[in-house]
Amino acid sequence: MTGKKLNGTVIVTYRCNARCSMCNRFKAPSRPEEEISIETIRKLPKMYFTNITGGEPFIRTDLKEVVRELYKKSDRIVISTNGFFTDRIIDLCQEFPQIGIRISVEGLEKTNDEIRGLSEGYQRSYTTLKKLREMGMKDVGFGMTVQDKNAPDLVPLYRISDEMGMEFATASLHNSFYFVETRNIIKDRPMVAKNFEDLVNELLKSYSPKKWFRAYFNHGLINYIYSQPRLLPCDMSFDTFFIDPYGDVMPCNGTQDKEVMGNLNRQTWDELWYSPEAEAVRRKVRCCDRNCWMIGSVSPAMHKYITKPAMWVVKHKLKSMLGMKYSMFELPICRDYRDGKVTKEELDKRSTCDFEATINDGLSDDSREALKGKRGEDIVDDDVVSQGYEATGNGNDNIS
Ligand code: SF4
Repeated sequence: MTGKKLNGTVIVTYRCNARCSMCNRFKAPSRPEEEISIETIRKLPKMYFTNITGGEPFIRTDLKEVVRELYKKSDRIVISTNGFFTDRIIDLCQEFPQIGIRISVEGLEKTNDEIRGLSEGYQRSYTTLKKLREMGMKDVGFGMTVQDKNAPDLVPLYRISDEMGMEFATASLHNSFYFVETRNIIKDRPMVAKNFEDLVNELLKSYSPKKWFRAYFNHGLINYIYSQPRLLPCDMSFDTFFIDPYGDVMPCNGTQDKEVMGNLNRQTWDELWYSPEAEAVRRKVRCCDRNCWMIGSVSPAMHKYITKPAMWVVKHKLKSMLGMKYSMFELPICRDYRDGKVTKEELDKRSTCDFEATINDGLSDDSREALKGKRGEDIVDDDVVSQGYEATGNGNDNIS
């Protein structure tokens, strides 16, 4: 096995009890019986960082065992969650106080609850985060996916997280099999970019180097929503991987359909990592033009190609200290759009949004079979109720 530690994301389930307007995963759950087992997790390589995600990871009743196993091979673990299963989150954090928790909060209360479709979603998330802070957990924070609807809440939410001494992770809309989406797109780019610009200036004002690099990440998000080539190369599948609930190892979660390097249920890590299939996926990554800008693919790139973000940070922190603000118009595309040299239609065409494309979900045949005659959200609601929790079922517009 390779001696080099990797960056891994483990998608422990595709079941999700939220109803987010930008993600249809709740309609396409995995069958619990098929979800990645402890035996398969034992076969993963050494990692310097692991993100556990879903679906909603805490829907799995054995998540503590999963974490226990992953700590044997990973230096740092962060779980992304919708914050619904407060008691389970608290219980897990009591055993693993060093773990990171990111709770998705999509804006202030009204906006969040509209976008996520979880009853009392904001209050639950906020209460959970506060409890975790009171327990002395250090690595906790908000995760926000910015879109037209919640962009005005971006800086206010950042300020709340800052006052609570929390991390604040951002993303924007993406289309892929993982989100079971092909139609996500930012409609009012200048408005959304302006809110990112304000956030960048807030982050640059801080005394935390980590926040200055976050400022660079958010600068990259402006570049992304204007459908531009990534600011940094994408090296997914070289020293980074995703594994899905079925044991399929993939480069990332940003592709239109799932790209499989091998299967860890059936193969050893070395067999799949050095296989011809894995090499073929790496060749595809080299010429991938989807230009995602998600923390999972950008964080490793920022570490690997540190000079570019570091130079940006030094320049902009100095400017901020001199009272000069960051402007999105330092990106040529923002100037071109403002000056009418490029149209909205041209940018839309360059994005991954495609109303005609087939929507892929990455499900196994058995999971898809289980959906015959049933809605994914009803299957998950029954599941959640059988676990002693209330069903979501409060009807987001997103449910077709
Ligand atoms: S740009 Fe990178 S992260 Fe995005 S789909 Fe392509 S390979 Fe995956």
